[in-house]
Amino acid sequence: MDLLKKHLVKPGASIKLASMKTVPDGPFEGKDDARNYCEEIIEKLREMQYRLFVEAKQSLLIVLQAPDAAGKDGLIRKMLGRMNPQGVRTYPFKVPTPLEKSHDFLWRVHKCTPATGMISVFNRSHYEDILAVRVEKLAPKEVWSKRYDMINHFENLLAANGTRILKFYLHISPEEQLERFKERLDRPEKHWKLNAGDYESRDKRPAYLEAYEDVFKECSPKHAPWFIIPADKKWYRDAAVGSIVYETMKEMSPQLPPVDVDLDKIRRLYEREKAELEKT
Ligand code: ATP
Ligand code: MG
Repeated sequence: MDLLKKHLVKPGASIKLASMKTVPDGPFEGKDDARNYCEEIIEKLREMQYRLFVEAKQSLLIVLQAPDAAGKDGLIRKMLGRMNPQGVRTYPFKVPTPLEKSHDFLWRVHKCTPATGMISVFNRSHYEDILAVRVEKLAPKEVWSKRYDMINHFENLLAANGTRILKFYLHISPEEQLERFKERLDRPEKHWKLNAGDYESRDKRPAYLEAYEDVFKECSPKHAPWFIIPADKKWYRDAAVGSIVYETMKEMSPQLPPVDVDLDKIRRLYEREKAELEKT
């Protein structure tokens, strides 16, 4: 199953998001098939994360970007839910605070990159400093247009330091998005998520898509690629992202440290202790 190749944005590729599918076209036979596959992958990811943590030599950074209600939160719950919380951190990036604004745009981001053995998941990211800033006109073009290079240098630095970087864009149709907004309206426990601004952002969809397309073109080098995931079906979104993360971790091939204790001696010590206990 090569979902990694299927959804990869090649370096310098000119993507037209309007012509990219938001619904899957294989390889799963439907929801149940994809959910079963996803279960297996989640278990394998759990094992991989254990190895990565114990090895403590490399790290993984997962960047999630998407329009509202495309399912970043659901994906994080699904993918990370069974990992050891000691080895995983998630970081949401909201509108910068006054302190964050008083620094360069990567200041708040660099602090959240993963240490060796760790996985960091960015729920939104430094890409907002191009995307939101451009579309919401928070700074002039001469400011945000320099950030493609800055981000490439930054990600280069991380990669050279042993961090694998995977960046996912969850591609959802305006129809499915509206459906999910409606679900939020219908469920009181989701009312806290309601936000009039989300409806206003819908008018800006073409501008956001264009901004994303430029990001894909400028910032998808081999060592820090983007993947565009059809996200109208939650089961496909989870299975596809899980699969790509797993394939990448397999390639990272984290190894348990070599055993440098005398196992026979440890076994003898154990037997001795056990015999002592049984005597009493
Ligand atoms: P939810 O699914 O809960 O809505 P969310 O990620 O959309 O999750 P919000 O609090 O609704 O969370 O939105 C965060 C907002 O912060 C987004 O509109 C995003 O564009 C904005 N934002 C994030 N980083 C920046 C930035 N560097 N500059 C400007 N705006 C930013
Ligand atoms: Mg939001």
